[in-house]
Amino acid sequence: MTINIGIVSLAYCAGCEVAIASMERFCGLIGSGMVRIAYSTLLVDREELENVDILFVTGSIRTYEDIAIIKEASRKALKIVAFGSCACFGGIPGLANTIEREELLREIFSPLKPSTTNSRSKLTRFIVPLNTIVKIDYMVPGCPPPEPLIETLLDSLIYGKEFVLPKVSVCNECPLNRDDKKPLKKPRRKLLALNDIDINTCFLKQGILCMGPATLAGCKALCPSKGAPCIGCMGPLPNSKDQAADMIDALSIFYSVEPPEEILKAIPDPIGLLSMFTLPYSTIPYHRRVGGERIEKDVSRD
Ligand code: SF4
Ligand code: SF4
Ligand code: SF4
Repeated sequence: MTINIGIVSLAYCAGCEVAIASMERFCGLIGSGMVRIAYSTLLVDREELENVDILFVTGSIRTYEDIAIIKEASRKALKIVAFGSCACFGGIPGLANTIEREELLREIFSPLKPSTTNSRSKLTRFIVPLNTIVKIDYMVPGCPPPEPLIETLLDSLIYGKEFVLPKVSVCNECPLNRDDKKPLKKPRRKLLALNDIDINTCFLKQGILCMGPATLAGCKALCPSKGAPCIGCMGPLPNSKDQAADMIDALSIFYSVEPPEEILKAIPDPIGLLSMFTLPYSTIPYHRRVGGERIEKDVSRD
């Protein structure tokens, strides 16, 4: 049996497609005929998406064309995978939600003179997660998704095993998470200071922001185990409403700061750092900018 996979990419950087295409196992599955890439703008030369078993969607929804593409593609797929944090949560492009579309076009893109006459390529007012537009079957976060998680997904697609996301945080997988009795430093005035770090000690213990406590495991703590703090690319833990709020709570407990909001004084760009991958998926800010209306209404109406 051959599983036909389509990969549809919206506003993206190609990192997700490269991540899966560079996996030895994925290439082996293609070589053995168990998997066929039926459509991918990056990987195969085919103009139209045919009916597929699995549709991987990568990238953020940024234009009305993205919405039209994904609605049409979803009708040709038996199952849909939100692949990567852009599709799952809005990803890094979702930080554009901190300003209104008109302001975005005026301040950032106006020198490039983007087309505003073609209504399909017009920007949506805000970036939204994929599941607000179509029903998804699997959510595979990460920027790009880590290889162990893609392996689990492939097992589920090929052998029918259940695909279950981890339930714990990055700290649970982190080799720096040990009680080494080193003294806990108060947060540095700027929690980002990266000079003078000890890569063998938990970053939070050194007063350096690490998103591990509020970030879903699955990457085997890739960054802290290589000497860099976690920046939260796997997104929130299950049942979390807001990764940033969870992180504020975690920092407040870790450093005994009350009330929790006080910790924000030590973070130079709270939205940019605590919601770097998840702003469209979170409960904060931009909803209020449209008078509390739900964002998906806003997208379809505009
Ligand atoms: S999730 Fe990361 S790697 Fe994937 S498309 Fe978005 S920015 Fe690129
Ligand atoms: S806060 Fe960061 S460095 Fe510390 S245990 Fe958690 S993931 Fe590791
Ligand atoms: S450690 Fe954090 S930023 Fe690094 S890959 Fe894992 S979740 Fe992403």
